[in-house]
Amino acid sequence: MRKLTLIEEHQAALRGCRRCPDMHKPVVVGPPVSGKILLVGQAPGDKEPALGRPFAWTAGKQLFKWFATLNVTEPQFRASVYMAATCRCFPGKNPKGGDRVPNEQEVLNCRPWLERELELLKPELLIPIGRLAIEQFLPARPLVEQIGRTFELTRGRRRIQVLPLPHPSGASTWPRTEPGKSLTARALQLLGEHPAWRATFR
Ligand code: SF4
Repeated sequence: MRKLTLIEEHQAALRGCRRCPDMHKPVVVGPPVSGKILLVGQAPGDKEPALGRPFAWTAGKQLFKWFATLNVTEPQFRASVYMAATCRCFPGKNPKGGDRVPNEQEVLNCRPWLERELELLKPELLIPIGRLAIEQFLPARPLVEQIGRTFELTRGRRRIQVLPLPHPSGASTWPRTEPGKSLTARALQLLGEHPAWRATFR
């Protein structure tokens, strides 16, 4: 069966997922894209379910500003990169401010969807966005040791490069203050030079 058809079938099943009782519906799913790059965010915010796509609001605006520095527009990116997440549903608000961070059980519940995408897409480059997504692939470490570097992940016989980015949410000052600002610029430079990125956006 064609890869794109398998991805569409996967997304249809994902849209019907009801594993987490505290997660808000609908499930947020991006377009079915078959490419060399897989982006993995944290979880959608409150606007994304109505807008029907990941990174559709303020964090997305910042994320696409970063990619614009590499001469890639939001429509180009969305058409070329599969956008996944650690959890695919809006977790609700945190009473102390911002969005609730998905709990361990919710992350575990959602992991099989991500595993299936890794299996289907066989990406060459993974871009985890923010601490929760980064820790799905790399050991927990301070962001200063993870942003601005490329890591390698082995899955079976395949090697996948992992290039983490900080979360672009306005609630996080990390990418706007040093050393986060320089490390984010370095990460974007590495991204622009990566062969999978260049092959995707040449
Ligand atoms: S967060 Fe993931 S596992 Fe939980 S209900 Fe949503 S899609 Fe299903």
